[in-house]
Amino acid sequence: MLFHVDVDHALRHVPGLPQAVASRVLDTYFPLTLHGDIVASLGLDLDEPREVREAMPLTNIDGNAQRRRRDPSFRERVLRAYEYRCCVCGFDLRIGLTSAGLEAAHIQWHHVGGPDIEPNGLSLCSLHHKLFDLGVFTVEPSEHRVVFSQHAISGGRGMAGELQFHGRAIHPPQHTDLLPAPDFLAWNVKNVFKAPARQASTATPRAIR
Ligand SMILES: [Zn+2]
Repeated sequence: MLFHVDVDHALRHVPGLPQAVASRVLDTYFPLTLHGDIVASLGLDLDEPREVREAMPLTNIDGNAQRRRRDPSFRERVLRAYEYRCCVCGFDLRIGLTSAGLEAAHIQWHHVGGPDIEPNGLSLCSLHHKLFDLGVFTVEPSEHRVVFSQHAISGGRGMAGELQFHGRAIHPPQHTDLLPAPDFLAWNVKNVFKAPARQASTATPRAIR
């Protein structure tokens, strides 16, 4: 990519500026689950100098100067809605009384306007959260079945691995008011899911137990 000469000069000579710009791009356009992989694939070192980080304005995708704060209760509300288990695979490990490896995923990403409400959330284990944010699978809105991408290849494990969940209904939330909302699912399909979808099974889908 070519930059204007002034921008090019600044990126080359202002200490920490490329890292600060990269951090803002990550914060603005990608969910946290993907930051580490993107940074690693580009060979970036994002330990930017503090003075540079603080000098950079916080902007969101619309160019507004204020980044939206996350509601700290979102995770707890979404996990409770799904009874503290992954709605795809049923993972529900606890350490004592505390759930481990369980996360609240935004269906429409938070930093692009997705609200912190249960119909925009899914309770997912760390693995399925990452696969969801990568667009490996989505949830269709009518029967809430898990739909995997044709790009998802599971190698030797085949249908015994991740793809066993293709076509299955998610474990539903406690109340129908908490179900994923069609608008958010449509956003996810359009902007995140790696189309085309795998063919729907003709067999009766099994709900996750
Ligand atoms: Zn899972």
